[in-house]
Formats: sequence, C-alpha cells, structure tokens
Amino acid sequence: MQLNEKKEYILSRINLAKNKNDALKLNSEFRNYIKELYSEIKKIDDIEEKKKFGKEINDFKSEIKEKIDELISSFEQDSVSSECDPYIFKPSIKVGNSHPLIKLYKEMEKVLINLGFSVVQGPEIELDKYNFEKLNMPYFHPARDMQDTFYVKSPKVLLRSHTSSVQIRSIEKMSMPISIISPGTVYRVDDIDTQHTPMFYQVEGLSVGKKISFANLKFVLITLLKEVFGNQTEVRFRPTYYPYTEPSAAIDMSCPKCGKKGCSVCSRSGWITVLGSGMVHPKVLEDSGVDSEKYTGFAFGLGLNRLAMIYFDMNEIKKFYENDVSIWNQL
Ligand SMILES: [Zn+2]
Repeated sequence: MQLNEKKEYILSRINLAKNKNDALKLNSEFRNYIKELYSEIKKIDDIEEKKKFGKEINDFKSEIKEKIDELISSFEQDSVSSECDPYIFKPSIKVGNSHPLIKLYKEMEKVLINLGFSVVQGPEIELDKYNFEKLNMPYFHPARDMQDTFYVKSPKVLLRSHTSSVQIRSIEKMSMPISIISPGTVYRVDDIDTQHTPMFYQVEGLSVGKKISFANLKFVLITLLKEVFGNQTEVRFRPTYYPYTEPSAAIDMSCPKCGKKGCSVCSRSGWITVLGSGMVHPKVLEDSGVDSEKYTGFAFGLGLNRLAMIYFDMNEIKKFYENDVSIWNQL
C-alpha cells in the first residue's frame, strides 16, 4: 500500500473510532506499520532514494501521530468529564467558606508578599532559647512575665508565646538580606474573657539587610493598614518598650468604626493600638551571628484575632472558636 493510500485509510479509521479502545488499537497498528516502513528502508541500495523515502516516512509519521494523539486525548477528556459531573451536587448542599481569621490573614499576606516578604513557618512547641533568650530576654528578665506561657518541659521547652521565635530561627538559617513573615498559633496563660483566650494567632514580620531604617518600617506598616482597612486610615507611631527592639513603637490606627469621633470599640479615644514594632535590637542580631555593624533590621507583630475583631466588628474573641455558622453568615 502506498503511503498516500495508507494515510487515507488511517484517517477514515480515525473518523470511525468510537471509544478510547478503538483509538489505542489504531495507535498500535500505526506504530507497527511505521516499524515495517523503517525496515524497508534498509532494503534500498541507492542513497538518494533512501533519503527521499526516509523523509516521506517521517512526514507521514508526524502528521498521523498528531492526529491519533488528538483522538486519544479527546476520549480521555470525555472520560474525565463523565467521572466528575459538576452538576451532581444538589443546590441545597452548602459549600464551606474560609474562617474569618484566615480571610483576614490572606488579605494581609497578599499585601506583604507584594512588598517582598516571604512566608516562613516554625514549630509551636519551642525551645526557651528561641522564644526568650535570643530575643534579649534571659531567664531573669521581667518582660517574660508579660508573656506567661505553658511549659511542656520546664524550664527549656514551652509552647511559643509569640512567633518571634521563627524570626530568630530564620536569621540563623537564612543568609542576609531577609524579609519574612511568620504567621501562626501562639499560647499564653490567660483566662478566657471577651478579649483573651489562652491560644490566639499572630503575624510577625522581619526585614534585615544593609541600610534598613525606621522609614522602611513606617512605609510597610502604613501600606499594610491602609490596604487592609482602607485608604482613609490614619496611622501613628508611639514610643514604647520591647526587649528585642530599639527604638520600639506601638502602632495606633484611626478607629475604622467611628472615624476618630470616639466609640465603644476605641474606648472613646478615636485610636486603636494594633501592632508592636521597632528596629531589631543589635544584641538580638549579634546573638544569632549577624554583624550588627553591617546589618540593621525592623520587626513587627500583631495579634490577628484582635485585628479581626475590629475588621469584622466583633465584640468577643471566643466567637472565633465557637463554630457558630449564624455569626459567620453575618460577616
Ligand atoms: Zn471608635
């Protein structure tokens, strides 16, 4: 059979194929036929003729192979769509939604990733060294009392009281410069009331590099709050104290509920404290092996629950854990 005739024959078989089995059978016949053709080349003595015939076979092979591959994949798509019918779900079945904390976190994460930060995770059961010591809080330091935590194995292993421990691990592991955020669950010994639970969520950020200044910190945090709470949001920086930053600043934003007029959310002050921040203390950098003469950095941290309460206008922190769908539907 001449190649042209064979081509006509295969094309007609392609048109007649009814299922994937037909297609696969045709494919194997076609491959055997190509093998036969190649063995025929060997019988030709004339070099020029050999070349010509070889080219004809290759053209024929690539044209037909493409058509058979298309045929096979068309049956595969059909079988996928018949196995997975999107209309099988009844309209009455409700599809789940993201938890409000995750929703708010994702929004913040998007802004921070656009600003060049990458996301780093760390262990929730942590060593005292990473949770306190390397953050300039030796065992006698009174600032530890503000973060009274749960000890898994006293005095060295504990449930982390902040995600700053991930920052220290990152400084040790990664090469400078770094810009990271560390989201996650943290634990503190607190009785449950409207504003406190012994477990909550934090998002912390850290940027270390050459010539990182307080101006960079201001830019990142103002951008973050304006992106999440709207462009009308005002931000102010107040001096405060943390053992691991110097200088340190508490960040207030204008109350999104009353627009600085004063309401119950902002305790009539018009401002709400939402973040802690500052320039990383040189001792913290040195203790993790970073030359503080060469590198500087800023860090910030926020309680996601608290921010989410403001964002979603909620008055009780424990509502986040009650699985009350009627509340989520209102948000
Ligand atoms: Zn207010």
